[in-house]
Amino acid sequence: MKLLEERIKQDGRVIGTEVLKVDNFLNHQVDPALMKAMGDEFARLFADAKVDKVLTVESSGIAPAVFTALALNVPMVFARKKKSLTLSEDHYTADVYSFTKQETNHVIVDKRFIQPGERLLLIDDFLANGQAVEGMMQIAEAADAEVVGVGIVIEKTFQKGRALLDERDVRVESLARIAAFEDGEVIFAD
Ligand code: 5GP
Repeated sequence: MKLLEERIKQDGRVIGTEVLKVDNFLNHQVDPALMKAMGDEFARLFADAKVDKVLTVESSGIAPAVFTALALNVPMVFARKKKSLTLSEDHYTADVYSFTKQETNHVIVDKRFIQPGERLLLIDDFLANGQAVEGMMQIAEAADAEVVGVGIVIEKTFQKGRALLDERDVRVESLARIAAFEDGEVIFAD
């Protein structure tokens, strides 16, 4: 998606060799016009997937996920992060190791909000090692729901998330694909 690539070039800041900071349009301050364009694009890409619901993880997945859900005219659910968990029968849970924060979060979704047989579109801001998406897939599996696609705003192709998802045989669409960071510059994949 050209608009997003241009915004990344303009406002993204490369931290070390693996992390991109995009906190002035996605991860802290949010650009609603760009989020809407991204939501429309995900809706176009998954138009034939018969999506019943969009699922993401708080907090940075929420903005792109809500605009995607709006464009698809379906509800959006976000998994909540909990540091500690008293096991409850009312929730689906998964452990997600955060690549950027280097800590494990329990993510939880109330059982009322995913029904067996529902067709879920998973949305997240970044795909790095695939742990966040993997956690959402575990929740979908526990709920007997079907993952019909994964929409990623920014995929880093040099990390192992994509290979993990390809093994799971799930359709993945990324709006921007980054092949490398070189001397503080973003190199996009073809
Ligand atoms: P994964 O679970 O695929 O390893 O990492 C995805 C999660 O880590 C995303 O939800 C995102 O919050 C965070 N993340 C991974 N890589 C980056 C990055 O380069 N920049 C930012 N801002 N967040 C990232």
